[in-house]
Amino acid sequence: MGRQEEFVLRTIEERDIRFVRLWFTDVLGFLKSVAVAPAELEAAFAEGIGFDGSAIEGFARVSESDMLAKPDPATFQLLPWRSEGPGTARMFCDILMPDGTPSFADPRYVLKRALSRGAELGFSFYTHPEIEFFLFERGLAPDGQPVPVDSAGYFDNTPHGVGHDFRRQAITMLEAMGISVEFSHHEGAPGQQEIDLRYADALTTADNIMTFRLVMKQVALEQGVNASFMPKPFTDFPGSGMHTHLSLFEGDRNAFYEAGGPYQLSKVGRSFIAGVLRHAAEITAVTNQWVNSYKRLSGGGEAPNYICWGHNNRSALVRVPMYKPQKGGSTRVEIRSPDTATNPYLAFALLLAAGLKGIEEEYPLPEGAEDDVWSLTDSERRALGIVPLPTSLDEAIRAMEGSELVAETLGEHVFDFFLRNKRQEWSDYRRQVTAFELDRMLPVL
Ligand code: GLU
Ligand code: MG
Ligand code: MG
Repeated sequence: MGRQEEFVLRTIEERDIRFVRLWFTDVLGFLKSVAVAPAELEAAFAEGIGFDGSAIEGFARVSESDMLAKPDPATFQLLPWRSEGPGTARMFCDILMPDGTPSFADPRYVLKRALSRGAELGFSFYTHPEIEFFLFERGLAPDGQPVPVDSAGYFDNTPHGVGHDFRRQAITMLEAMGISVEFSHHEGAPGQQEIDLRYADALTTADNIMTFRLVMKQVALEQGVNASFMPKPFTDFPGSGMHTHLSLFEGDRNAFYEAGGPYQLSKVGRSFIAGVLRHAAEITAVTNQWVNSYKRLSGGGEAPNYICWGHNNRSALVRVPMYKPQKGGSTRVEIRSPDTATNPYLAFALLLAAGLKGIEEEYPLPEGAEDDVWSLTDSERRALGIVPLPTSLDEAIRAMEGSELVAETLGEHVFDFFLRNKRQEWSDYRRQVTAFELDRMLPVL
């Protein structure tokens, strides 16, 4: 047994932990949890805890359904909302097949494979997500709409509002679980909040995002409200994105930074952006995986819907922020398409793979777009070589189907399951007769 495992077992004894939750994530990005008694942990560390994989979304079609969840001791944390009485802790797990090999259905393994590809090229991958979400009252309005907890807007200071107390309690809880928060504020829509996590390696960030969603739901429960990560709950207000800042490091040197380069970007940084742009359409079904995700992308509100990059351009898919140009270590690129309802392991794996492809193949970076691309005409955009992101889940699925990069990065199992599942979602959606049609047609036809 390693030192980390010993530390976990000792802490469990010292802190009187009676339940240990083993967490993992299904292919669609939902958190799964099984609680084990501390006495089981030694065996769990050695060979994993068995469970029936066929009941988990996306795990079923791996040849056998018996699977093992093997806890990663580096992710051990006490659950702060379970502080009364005997304590509860959690660890994220890697999913193994009965013979002990990693399961190809495990999103964490997909990301780990992509990270080792990066490591082979000498890079480690860091991410920093800006997570937006809504706080709603419990229950719906008589017209079926969710009811936001306030009517404040961007950066509004609402000392007596629910959002203020909520963010305070949520951040305290995140920090108690070792998740550092950089910023938090009210976002543009009523009831909309944003909390930004500090930079961390991509695997830690993906784990943290899974924890984040649960913590927000938990704090909302305690405060008598609901937290929602639905990408676009309102037609007339902006949706919730998860803009993510990315950077590559070679040792402790930021590989995107070059003093005097355009926007202080190195060749590696430029090719990385070029890779993300060239493969953007193919990976959109994963970064924006729900029918509803496309309502956000086409709904304005600073969500991108054209494939281009720029410096201070909030209509661009990729932005190169320069808040602190004198600090070379902070050079990064901001990808603005993902929403928080994505599976972060798969999304980060694909963004990294696209960027690495750009570096390996030395893709040239197209001209940056400094105009607001929304205000250009179609032919002006065409002249600039700017094409739209997929405008629906259907288009995104079609772009993904033909992608070698996505198939390779996700692996055949996840790739096939994901496409099958999303085709089903699209076909369920397409059959719906919506309120829009009834409202428009019944009065006149
Ligand atoms: N809510 C916007 C989106 O869906 C982003 C607003 C911002 O932080 O710039 O992407
Ligand atoms: Mg924001
Ligand atoms: Mg942003």
